[in-house]
Amino acid sequence: MKYHFRLKSLNTFSINVFAKNIVTAHNEHTLLQFWKKAYNKGEPVLILGGGSNILFLENYIGTILLNRIKGVFITENKIAWRLHVGAGERWDELVVYTIHKNIPGLENLACIPGCVGAAPIQNIGAYGIELSQICEYVDVIDLYSEKKIRFTCAECDFKYRNSIFRDCLKRYVVVFVGLRLLKNWKPILNYSGLSHLNKYHITSRQIFNVVRRIRHKKLPDPVLVGNAGSFFKNPIIDIKMAACLFQNYPNIPYYYQKDGRIKLSAGWLIEHCRLKGCVFGEAAIYPRQALVLINTRKIATGTEIAALALYVYNKVADKFKIYLQPEVRLIGSNGEINPKKLFV
Ligand SMILES: Cc1cc2nc3c(=O)[nH]c(=O)nc-3n(C[C@H](O)[C@H](O)[C@H](O)COP(=O)(O)OP(=O)(O)OC[C@H]3O[C@@H](n4cnc5c(N)ncnc54)[C@H](O)[C@@H]3O)c2cc1C
Repeated sequence: MKYHFRLKSLNTFSINVFAKNIVTAHNEHTLLQFWKKAYNKGEPVLILGGGSNILFLENYIGTILLNRIKGVFITENKIAWRLHVGAGERWDELVVYTIHKNIPGLENLACIPGCVGAAPIQNIGAYGIELSQICEYVDVIDLYSEKKIRFTCAECDFKYRNSIFRDCLKRYVVVFVGLRLLKNWKPILNYSGLSHLNKYHITSRQIFNVVRRIRHKKLPDPVLVGNAGSFFKNPIIDIKMAACLFQNYPNIPYYYQKDGRIKLSAGWLIEHCRLKGCVFGEAAIYPRQALVLINTRKIATGTEIAALALYVYNKVADKFKIYLQPEVRLIGSNGEINPKKLFV
């Protein structure tokens, strides 16, 4: 089979793979038509936003469907602004737009690459806030029934880097996201890097600028160095296991979860396996942030990056008995690959 369509510029890891076909949908109707056409031919379809949370392991035998449904519609009442946003809008551009319009609430989530439609899939989060805290609803097309459905925030079942959509990628395509931003805005400054700021004298624009500065210092720019942000999720463990760990590693950073469990920093665990800066062929661990795997010169293959990820997984498992889970989705020739197949 011939693969004509190059995907290198459509994934932030800059993996040089090809697909059989690439199509772009600007509205719900064409999106469904494209999907049906591929489905009727028995070909797989991968919905893609900015390609900033995926790792292509090989060429894709089906159709890449770029969701580019646009539009930002804002209404307001005394209590809140309501934003109805097309899935194909860039998330970071939306944040900048709200800051310019003096609508606070998205500042902590500045500089996250990718599209609005992907934001609910893994419940994006950064600097003490997750999408779940501001999301009112998610509009999807159910590809099985071909109907449009609205999921309320509660129905999305958002959790840390998870939602009902993560496991239903073949069924639902996000077409719009509804956000509700309160006028009685309160800054969220409890995360390291922001905790020094004065909560009584700070604007959302100032927080936005601080977040931007920190992120530019800490994270590689995908334009220059291939990467998909954090490769692994921060592990969440039960209190008994945490107590054992604290005995051996009293300085380990941790965060209490609402359910009583403990979230650890995957970056810290990797760093304490002395892996920061480790190089594996053309793949490497970013020297400034151990949680980020990089395609240094943009010539690594997806399997090289995955081999490094497996190496990291095994090192952390050997040292801490903690089994990291990838945040990045692994994409094979036919679609998403269950990470359990790779990380065993
Ligand atoms: C430098 C860098 C920093 C990052 N920082 C953060 C961070 O701070 N916090 C964070 O949470 N993430 C972060 N990420 C990860 C990534 O940016 C987010 O997960 C983002 O939401 C992915 O958006 P995307 O459009 O690129 O998704 P893609 O990579 O295109 O897609 C991701 C998955 O969602 C599916 N998908 C995409 N769009 C749709 C849709 N409309 N309907 C149904 N399924 C869809 C795809 O099929 C795929 O399985 C970072 C990434 C990079 C490169």
